[in-house]
Amino acid sequence: MGAKIIDGKAIAAGIRGEIARTVSKLTLEGTRPGLGVVLVGQNPASISYVNSKENDCDEVGIYSHDIRLPANTSESELLHIIDNLNHNPRIHGILVQLPLPKDMNEARIIAAILPEKDVDGFHPANLGRLLLNLDCFIPCTPYGIVKILEIENIPIEGAEIVLVGRSRIVGAPLANLLFRKGYGGNATLTVCHSYTRNIEKVLSRGDIIIVATGNPGLIKGNMIRNGTVVIDVGINRVEDSSRRKGYKLVGDVDFDSVKQVAKAITPVPGGVGPVTRAMLLWNTAVAAQRFHTDRKEV
Ligand code: NDP
Repeated sequence: MGAKIIDGKAIAAGIRGEIARTVSKLTLEGTRPGLGVVLVGQNPASISYVNSKENDCDEVGIYSHDIRLPANTSESELLHIIDNLNHNPRIHGILVQLPLPKDMNEARIIAAILPEKDVDGFHPANLGRLLLNLDCFIPCTPYGIVKILEIENIPIEGAEIVLVGRSRIVGAPLANLLFRKGYGGNATLTVCHSYTRNIEKVLSRGDIIIVATGNPGLIKGNMIRNGTVVIDVGINRVEDSSRRKGYKLVGDVDFDSVKQVAKAITPVPGGVGPVTRAMLLWNTAVAAQRFHTDRKEV
């Protein structure tokens, strides 16, 4: 029997429904959640993400303030824009679309966002709080993965999880989330990266395998054991002349062979991506809720 194909679009729609109710309540009480999105340059994938985020905001009633800047924007101009968003009472969440142009200091830009508006969860204060198991904004992709597992009734607690990838955006925060003693955690975790030897042997340990490497089709069906749950984070453009755009999106998992042996699998597209986007809205609603509560208490 083939794997269950986890429907990330349906999961995301359910989460957006929940967010829309919170947003509507907050708006009626006088605080309409607002998200400021900053895009620097013309990276096609980034433009497409930012457009989708705008549509998502419209759908759930979040006010979105979109700032698109040319690639030659200076770092000091960008810092000035972030400072304005930090002080704008209509904006509760700020997202600076990554990657930034190469000559910009990404760490300095992210650190300029107020931690209480850092709905991407990449500010050092939020990442530090995640590590310390304190209340924080959980980065959207790790949060989305935990939500998928939760909604699909796949226990994380006590599970053997093999995570492939340790990037600052996905792997590292996800690892911290999965092994911490708290929400989304208590897994027995193994993290693989480009220095891992004999990855197949390591993968065979996993009840759940999560792959975020940016290598199309890296994980094949013969590398995992029967009954594994596979979460494919990768989003890779590969050439496909039969498509109008000239490319198609594929994951880091060889879907056709892995679905024969896995118990469940997230497809690409339509798996982790939509849920990641929903968690950005979730974090924005939470930021607005905190702002609203603080304002009432003053
Ligand atoms: P990075 O390039 O920043 O990190 C890749 C990680 O994978 C690194 O830790 C690297 O190891 C590891 N790696 C690379 N090749 C191998 C290999 N052959 N074997 C084992 N480990 C390997 O990528 P990101 O984390 O930013 O993104 C990964 C993928 O996820 C991309 O396809 C990206 O588009 C996608 N993505 C999807 C999102 C979603 O919402 N679905 C959100 C964000 C990203 P080392 O550290 O040793 O270099």
